Amino acid sequence: MRLFFALGLDEKANQAAREQLVRYNHHLYGEGRAVPDQNLHLTLAFLGEVPDTKLPALQAAASNLALPAFNLTTSSVEVWEQPKIACVTFNQPPSALFELANHLQTLPVWPAKADSHVFTPHITLRRGVKDDDALDLPTLPAQTFACQRFGLYASPSSTSDESIPRDNEGRALYQCLHQFSLC
Ligand code: ATP
Ligand code: MG
Repeated sequence: MRLFFALGLDEKANQAAREQLVRYNHHLYGEGRAVPDQNLHLTLAFLGEVPDTKLPALQAAASNLALPAFNLTTSSVEVWEQPKIACVTFNQPPSALFELANHLQTLPVWPAKADSHVFTPHITLRRGVKDDDALDLPTLPAQTFACQRFGLYASPSSTSDESIPRDNEGRALYQCLHQFSLC
């Protein structure tokens, strides 16, 4: 299973902020393809292919972390030419976010794939954006997300598989396997 830990930003307290983000994304047009509404997330640690047998230990290790909740305030929407995405960035992300990501990236049971990039928190809105001139990016009003939990997600590794969940446009959806509370 292809797995990653992420903030789903879907707590009840985040409903209004999330809806605003979804509306913003619907109004972007131009190059690239939008991330499905239900897939919007902030990746904390990308684990890659993990054998199913490792799942219980992975869940136990993440449950044992007992790390603090935090708030995240959006800063702007940027195009990153590598990896060709439009994404939301954050204003002074708290150290608790980096601490959480660092713990999840280095879980002894299945450490995240070594990533040459420094962890830069972001929410991808659109993929396949090659050039920031190709997209009209209105200002995103600042929104604060209360991050009280994170999730372990499965990403469909075979897009032709008929059993994977899809949105009404046929786009593959992530599956949340487990949610973990922050303190
Ligand atoms: P696809 O790759 O099929 O377009 P996707 O990018 O939505 O789909 P995944 O590639 O499984 O799905 O990625 C899941 C999450 O992990 C995304 O947020 C993605 O940006 C991130 N991710 C994927 N590969 C890596 C990697 N090697 N290092 C860090 N993060 C990654
Ligand atoms: Mg990918």
